[in-house]
Amino acid sequence: MRVEGLHKSFGELEVLKGIDFTVRPGEVVCVIGPSGSGKSTLLRCVNLLEEPTAGTVALSGTELTDPDVDIDRVRRRIGMVFQSFNLFPHLSVLDNLTIAQRRVLGRTKDEARRIGRANLRRVGVSEKESAYPAQLSGGQQQRVAIARALSMEPELMLFDEPTSALDPELVGDVLAVMRRLADEGMTMMVVTHEMSFAREVADRVVFMDGGVIVEEGPPTRVIGDPQHQRTRTFLSRVL
Ligand code: ADP
Ligand code: MG
Repeated sequence: MRVEGLHKSFGELEVLKGIDFTVRPGEVVCVIGPSGSGKSTLLRCVNLLEEPTAGTVALSGTELTDPDVDIDRVRRRIGMVFQSFNLFPHLSVLDNLTIAQRRVLGRTKDEARRIGRANLRRVGVSEKESAYPAQLSGGQQQRVAIARALSMEPELMLFDEPTSALDPELVGDVLAVMRRLADEGMTMMVVTHEMSFAREVADRVVFMDGGVIVEEGPPTRVIGDPQHQRTRTFLSRVL
């Protein structure tokens, strides 16, 4: 994933003011920064839920921002997990996992179920395949949302504060699933306030403030020994 010269404005409000970064295959990049700094907007521009005002976004050499590119085809190569789990409340867990596989990828019901069940096992929620989302804890719902994204077999997974809406005792299970994905070599971009996760799992940490990347580098540097005052001020509030 390569982002170059990315700008995003909403009317008069310039939210992203020129962002450049790369996520290499198998890399885990954690994005940290204060509320309102543009982290969600950045993720949403990366999978074109928002249209950039300027700049380019490319995935494995395909320029997503090229008007001739079939955006739906590219978008299905990117998995997204939100703070709110966004499961379909009227569908069982397994049906939540199979619907997009069948509609978007054209998989048969049997194939979609096989892949869905494999991914439920991966996130440790196999025993709930017939339950409805409201019957699950928040942590289980979020793990189902991760399994749903994985069932599309994406090249890149985007996570936007995946544990922020969870009760504290449920956060660990979700982070453990994400940590395992990272160990398996999944390419991931994770917006998070979980500094211990960023420190232990990220290959690189990006600190954003005011719509720009203030600094980036290995967690030992950005979290352990930040170079900028803005980073130090932020970390002193969250650590
Ligand atoms: P973060 O995720 O870092 O908290 P966001 O990317 O959500 O920050 O928001 C950055 C800024 O962009 C905020 O000032 C927010 O109000 C504004 N913003 C985000 N989305 C929209 C939108 N659709 N329309 C107008 N302003 C928006
Ligand atoms: Mg956000």
